[in-house]
Amino acid sequence: MSTIGIFGLGLIGGCLGLDLRSRGYQVLGVSRRQDTCDRAVSLGAVDRASVDPSLLAPAEMIFLCTPIEAIAPAVKQLLPFLDPKTILTDVGSVKQAVVDAVVPLWSNFVPAHPMAGKAENGLQASQKDLFVDRPYVITPVASTPAASIAKVEAIARSLRSWVYQCSPANHDRAVAWISHLPVMVSASLLAACSSESDSQVLDLAYKLASSGFYDTSRVGGGYPELGVMMAKYNQHQVLQALYAYRDRLNNCIESIEQANWSGLEATFEETRQIRDRFFPPENRY
Ligand code: NAP
Repeated sequence: MSTIGIFGLGLIGGCLGLDLRSRGYQVLGVSRRQDTCDRAVSLGAVDRASVDPSLLAPAEMIFLCTPIEAIAPAVKQLLPFLDPKTILTDVGSVKQAVVDAVVPLWSNFVPAHPMAGKAENGLQASQKDLFVDRPYVITPVASTPAASIAKVEAIARSLRSWVYQCSPANHDRAVAWISHLPVMVSASLLAACSSESDSQVLDLAYKLASSGFYDTSRVGGGYPELGVMMAKYNQHQVLQALYAYRDRLNNCIESIEQANWSGLEATFEETRQIRDRFFPPENRY
C-alpha cells in the first residue's frame, strides 16, 4: 500500500497525515473548506488536498476523520469514487453509532478509534507522534474483512500505538467510564468552583490553582463539541456511568457529614489501589 486518503483535515486527520507521510506514504486529503486544504499542504500534513472527494479515488485506504455526525455523509460522498478493494476506516470516539450508519453503506469498513487527543481541536493543533504509546482500538463486526483489519492494525502499529480489538458496544461502554465520564465530571468541577459567590475568594482560587486542579480540570476545559458528541452518541452508557458516579459522590458526602473519617479513609485506600490497576506505577504518563 502506498497511497492513503484522509477525509476531514482537523486535529486527528492532521496528526495522522504528518505521521503517515513521515513513514513514506503518499497522503491525499479532503476537507470541507479550501482554506483548510491549503493549510494542510503547507503544514506538510498531506501531499495534495482538495474539497473534491474524487481526489481520494487512488487511495487504497481512507481514514474518515470528520466529526461523528459527518462520517456517514462523508462515506456517501466518497461512494462514486471507491474501488471495492478500498478500505475505509474511521477515528470516531464512539463506535456503535458509526458502525450502524457506515456498515450498510460500505462493507470494507474497519471501525477504529485512536485514543489520543488534545484540549484544542482543528488542524492548527496537529503534531507528529500524537499516537505513540497510546491505545488504538479496532472494533470490527462479523462482516469486517479480516485482511482489512490486519492492514489497519499494521498502520496503527507503525504509529507505535498499542492495538486492541473489541466489539463496538464494549468499546462504548468502556470509554464511557474512562473518557466520557471524566469530561462530564471535570466540566461539573469547573462549573461548581465558579459558583463561589465571593468574588475575592474566587479570584484567590484562580491564583492558587496549581497542578492538582490543572490535572482534574483539563478534560472539562476542552472544546465544547467533544463533550456534546460523547453525550449525544453514547447517551445510554454515559448516563449509566454518571448515575454510578453520583452514587459514589453521595457516599463521600455522607461520610463527611457524619464525620466518618475511617470510612472515608477506607474509600481512599480502595481508590488508591484501583488507580494502580489503571496506571501501574511503572507505567504512568
Ligand atoms: P476537528 O479538529 O474539529 O476536525 C474535524 C475536521 O473535519 C475539521 O477540520 C473540518 O474541516 C472537517 N469537517 C467537519 N465537518 C465536515 C464535513 N461535513 N465534511 C468534511 N469535512 C468536515 O476534530 P477532531 O478532534 O480531529 O475529531 C475528528 C474525529 O476524531 C471525530 O470523529 C472524533 O470523535 C475523533 N477523535 C477525536 C479525538 C480528540 O481528542 N480530538 C481523539 C480521538 C478521536 P474544515 O476545516 O475543512 O471545515
